[in-house]
Amino acid sequence: MRRKRKSSGGFLRAVVHNLFFSRGRYFIIILCLVLFSWLLLLFAPGNLSWPGGFGGGKEPEGEEDETEDKLYRGYWLKDGSEMERKEVDDPHLYTYFDMVDDLRDITEQYSEITGLTQVGHSVEGVPLWCIKVGRGNKDILVVGAAHAREWITTPVLVEQARTYAGDYYQEGNELSEKEGMIKGVTMQKLLEEYKLWFIPMLNPDGVRLAQKGPSLYPERKEELLSMNKSGMGDDFTRWKANIRGVDLNRQYNVNWEETLELAHVESQREVRLEPSYQNHLGEEPYSEPESRAVAQLLKDEDRDFRLGLDYHSTGQFIFWYYGQEGEHLEVNRRMVREMSDYSGYGKMATGSFFEPNTCLVRYMINKHELPGATVEIAPFTTGIRDMRDFEEAVENNRYMVPVAVSALPSFEEIK
Ligand SMILES: [Zn+2]
Repeated sequence: MRRKRKSSGGFLRAVVHNLFFSRGRYFIIILCLVLFSWLLLLFAPGNLSWPGGFGGGKEPEGEEDETEDKLYRGYWLKDGSEMERKEVDDPHLYTYFDMVDDLRDITEQYSEITGLTQVGHSVEGVPLWCIKVGRGNKDILVVGAAHAREWITTPVLVEQARTYAGDYYQEGNELSEKEGMIKGVTMQKLLEEYKLWFIPMLNPDGVRLAQKGPSLYPERKEELLSMNKSGMGDDFTRWKANIRGVDLNRQYNVNWEETLELAHVESQREVRLEPSYQNHLGEEPYSEPESRAVAQLLKDEDRDFRLGLDYHSTGQFIFWYYGQEGEHLEVNRRMVREMSDYSGYGKMATGSFFEPNTCLVRYMINKHELPGATVEIAPFTTGIRDMRDFEEAVENNRYMVPVAVSALPSFEEIK
């Protein structure tokens, strides 16, 4: 034994000598640097370069390892610290943590057809999660909870994702009850052609504020109180904006100058120039990381978006018209008609009330030439929507996304 050790020691010394005192040392130094950077990337928490990078994300295949597990079970913030789960379990609420748990369950259960991607961070550094369903190369965007108090849209989108992923394995069983709904095309076939990108909660900081109140943000408390709806005190349930008082659905680079002018019209309360619980545009388009994340995803050259839906919850209506013309108009009109027939929601060509805004759907329609719609999914009320609205909203919206997709010209090719 001794001899052997001694001789292997001699061998090692020879290797070390050759590596560090001959030209080979440069090779070894470079190798060490590469190895070190790779390890850094692997263990960096909640980072944007998580395998696949921006817009790519965790693809469904592959073994689950402990690092990934921590990444999305642990709710890492941008600075690497772990979010503290301060929300209490309340059956009337659906929290950010409830969403992350559900997204994880869905991507585990249907790993072949789903994937989870982080598309950005909120102001507070909270990951903005996107669940992808399907493996086609035509992309569809569905966004929820840009407005904090409209967080009821989050569980509805999660339920849509779960339904479509489950249907993928069912040879159309689930769909046969609603025959003709997607025009004889199974979900399996649809998901081979399209990839559905759900961002169920675009405004996690605002949602947490609306659900839990300002105690979550002690350093911002005074500022938040000054921006809150007058007379509401520390009741933040009417809060719509992100945590800096910017309305994330007024942040898109469309119609910006016209909208700013309208801000000076006395009667025009849809546009505010100062940070507020609602309707403030922000200093400039995409001043906020949440809206920036959506705009970047839409611009990603590796993607081919064909359609966009933005989910809100005030009144059961679908808003859709922003001056489209020709074929663009016809496709959008047909899509909204079919969505309206399916859900029972009214159709609204935007009139003066919503005219000035710089919203996501207007941006998708006017700047990206995509058919789009803002879908409002709960009865109009001055009260707060909570999980009591969930069942009805899910029933009305369960197949809304494939119904919308089925109106696209590209859908004709797979029928
Ligand atoms: Zn809204």
